[in-house]
Amino acid sequence: MVRSVVVAMDGPSGSGKSSTSRGVASRLGLAYLDTGAQFRAVTAWMLSHGVDIHDPAAVAARALEPQLVSGTDPLAPTITVDGVDVAEAIRSEAVTAAVSPVATVPEVRARLMELQRAIISDALETGGIVVEGRDIGSVIWPGAAVKLYLTADAAARAARRTAENGTGSVAATEAELLRRDAIDSSRAAAPLVVPAGAVHLDTTPYTLDQVVDQVVAIVDRAVAGHTAGAVE
Ligand code: C5P
Repeated sequence: MVRSVVVAMDGPSGSGKSSTSRGVASRLGLAYLDTGAQFRAVTAWMLSHGVDIHDPAAVAARALEPQLVSGTDPLAPTITVDGVDVAEAIRSEAVTAAVSPVATVPEVRARLMELQRAIISDALETGGIVVEGRDIGSVIWPGAAVKLYLTADAAARAARRTAENGTGSVAATEAELLRRDAIDSSRAAAPLVVPAGAVHLDTTPYTLDQVVDQVVAIVDRAVAGHTAGAVE
């Protein structure tokens, strides 16, 4: 088992971050945190409380209210808001359409940063953690022992996401992914970037198992004290 390591897994929507992160965490006996689920949970709360998600001041004013709890077992990750299980609700089309605007609001990001850093610190006491998101290696935990930046061709990402959703057209899914990428990459607060020192992995030609194998090898090398072949 790998001990006390933070693996920061960043990249755009549908690049394979979730499946890869969970696979790596369970193979190495690490905890797992899906920060996208946390942004989705805040968004679901804003929508269900009638907050205009296109009004950043309105979102900011209520950013401290939702009480989030994330379970970090990679085989059964959980998320609750105010004690209610929202794992399914946060995958709705309404939440997917609203999450990127909510994630641009600095007060939301500050709130979640505090929560994410607390979860990572706790996990370091008991082993280590794989954390997936958009700003993990750049902002949340820049000292992570391993930083990965996963990408894939837009068409491949859309095909995977459509298959996961089990509904919708690949073309519509691709348009939605590209729309979110554009907002996530251009926002002022913690935009999606390739973090300094990250290993950039294009997952397009690989199966999930192959990507997990590659990442496990990178983590093993980093933990053994070798350089992880970092590229900008
Ligand atoms: O990973 P997922 O697609 O579920 O993330 C949903 C949205 O949450 C992203 O499109 C992005 O707007 C936001 N997000 C973020 N920073 C993170 C994780 C997710 O801004 N660390």
